Amino acid sequence: MECSVSVQQNLEKIRAAIAAAETEAERKKGSVRLVAVSKTKSADEIRPVIALGQRLFGENRVQEAQTKWPGLKAETAGIELHLIGPLQSNKTADAVALFDVIETVDREKIAREIAREIDKQEKSPGLYVQINTGSEPQKAGIEPDEAGAFIDFCRNDLKLKITGLMCIPPVEENPGPHFALLAKIARDHDIDTLSMGMSDDFETAIGFGATEVRVGSAIFGAR
Ligand SMILES: *Cc1c(COP(=O)(O)O)cnc(C)c1O
Repeated sequence: MECSVSVQQNLEKIRAAIAAAETEAERKKGSVRLVAVSKTKSADEIRPVIALGQRLFGENRVQEAQTKWPGLKAETAGIELHLIGPLQSNKTADAVALFDVIETVDREKIAREIAREIDKQEKSPGLYVQINTGSEPQKAGIEPDEAGAFIDFCRNDLKLKITGLMCIPPVEENPGPHFALLAKIARDHDIDTLSMGMSDDFETAIGFGATEVRVGSAIFGAR
């Protein structure tokens, strides 16, 4: 497979930086998984990254993902696809059918619809709750002080297996306190997967316990 030199170098650089951040944080080698965020990139741009061994990918739109990933998944075994953008209720069936993990469970209505689709389709995608750590009005996610009640509702009332938390800190702020808050909520609720950190702050996130970092532009280039 032809591979643009820069994408290969980018991926190698990110892998090395993740390993260095694991060591720096005294975390176990390989404890952080790289989610390559391929939104806006075509199947032809994604294939070289798959050829370099990457199997874990993130997309933020259901409809866009449907144009690329059924084909890419059919070509290569072991692809794990995460939904990292907001889910609209009319896309729930499609999302449950296509994604291996939905990282953006962010309100009661969508949790109910996911539960219904999981029963109907007999699927069991991984489910993370998105927390709006900065309480930004325009941003999706559960308010930090409502996280406990929401996680309990998903688990007890809907029988959903919530295995992770994700957050997107406010752009203008130091992300550290947001990562720390997400890690604390996870500890309080026996959750061990923490999806946090992007191209600009994934090393910081690893220091605060990220188990998955979502990196797009640092691999694929600017969007
Ligand atoms: C686009 C996106 C990313 C990746 O952002 P980069 O800055 O390109 O690494 C990570 N998480 C979410 C939720 C995104 O929408």
